[in-house]
Amino acid sequence: MKHLKNRQEFLSSKLFEAFDSKKLSKILGYIKDQDSKDKFFKLLVEITDSLDFPMSNLSDDYFQYLPYKKALSLTVDRSDLQDCTASSSDSYPDHSVPDNFCQDGKVLRKWGTGVRKAPCLICGGTGKEKNISGIKYLKFWFNQNGEFTCLTGTDGEKISKINQDRKIDHRELRRLPTGTKVRIELLSNDSRGRINTEGTIYQSEGGGTYVIHNNRSHEGGSPGGRDWKRFGEWSWCVNDGNEYRNCFVIEKVTYDTNDPIYLNKSVNIKSDQIVLLDMISHEDLIKLKQSHFSLILDFSKLKTFEFKKKSEIKKERELQKLGATALISDEEIKQKNIKRYLNQVFDRLKVSTDIEDISKLMMKIMGGNYLGFHIFNSDS
Ligand SMILES: [Zn+2]
Repeated sequence: MKHLKNRQEFLSSKLFEAFDSKKLSKILGYIKDQDSKDKFFKLLVEITDSLDFPMSNLSDDYFQYLPYKKALSLTVDRSDLQDCTASSSDSYPDHSVPDNFCQDGKVLRKWGTGVRKAPCLICGGTGKEKNISGIKYLKFWFNQNGEFTCLTGTDGEKISKINQDRKIDHRELRRLPTGTKVRIELLSNDSRGRINTEGTIYQSEGGGTYVIHNNRSHEGGSPGGRDWKRFGEWSWCVNDGNEYRNCFVIEKVTYDTNDPIYLNKSVNIKSDQIVLLDMISHEDLIKLKQSHFSLILDFSKLKTFEFKKKSEIKKERELQKLGATALISDEEIKQKNIKRYLNQVFDRLKVSTDIEDISKLMMKIMGGNYLGFHIFNSDS
C-alpha cells in the first residue's frame, strides 16, 4: 500500500506543476496530509468547472495569500460599486416625494405636512447599489498544521444569520421545555408521507410530548385543552420516537455584526453551481476560527476573464479527430500518448477510487496542454 500512496502523492504533485500559478504550487507544498490536498483540489476543480474555465489557465493573477485577520476583512471594495438610484417611493411608497432619488443614502419623504430627509431603505443608507454580481472572493482557509480547514465566500454583504441548529436525540426531545423551537421531519405511514417543518415543543400535563406546527397536512394527536394553540394550528405527537426523524433545536444566536468574520459565508456547490449561502454554518464558523491564513481566489475576475472556453477547446479537438491523422499536431499525439500511458498505469495498479479520481483529474488538466510525457516516464 505504501507504494500506492507514493504513487498517488507523486501524481498529485505533478498535477500542481501543471498550473501557471506559483501560489497554488506553494500551497500544495504546504498542505501536509493527502486528505486535505484531495479536498482542496476537488473544490478547485468544481469551481473552475462551474465557469468552464480551463484549470491550467489559473495563474497568480487570480490568487492572493493573506494572514487570518486581513483575509477575514477582505471584501468588495465599495468604491467599485454603482451609486444607488432608488427613488423616494421605493423606500416610502405611502409617503413618497415625486422625482426624488437616493443621494448619498438619503431620500426625501413626506412627514406630516412637510418633507424630511430619511435613510434610503433600498441601499441601507450606503448610497451604493448592492453587489448584484454575487460572489467576489472565494477563500480557502488553512491552519498552521498544514491542513486545509474550510472554504468560505464573500459578496460584500454580511450574513443575516448563523446556523447553529443542534441535532438532538429522542431522550433529549422528551425533556425539552414547552416553547422550544425545533426543526423536525414528521413521518407518517399513510399518504401524507413526510414533511420537514419548524415547530414548537409542547409538553402536556399528562406527560405527552407534541410538536405544534402550521402544516395542515400533518394534523396528528394533540394535547388536551386549547393552551397549545398559542404555538400553532396543528399538533403531532412524538412520544415514541418513530413519528419523526432528525430533530434539531433552533438556537437563537446573537452576534456582533461589526465582527468582520461575518463577511464570510458558507459555500454550497451543487451540480456545477457555486452558491453563497446567506449564513455561515456552525461547522464552518468553528473551522474558520481555527485557521491561520487564507489563499484567496478572485472569483469575479475569474468570471470575467476572456478565456478560451474549455468546452470550445474540446470541440476543436473533436473536429480535429474527425479529420485526417495528418492534421493532428505533434502536440495532440503527445497528449494521446500520455493518456494511453496513464491508462496503462492505472490498469496495472488496479487501484482504489481515489487513484481513479486522480486519473480523471489528470485528464482534465491535460485539456490544457501542459504536461510533458517525460514526467511520467521518470517514474515508470
Ligand atoms: Zn439608496
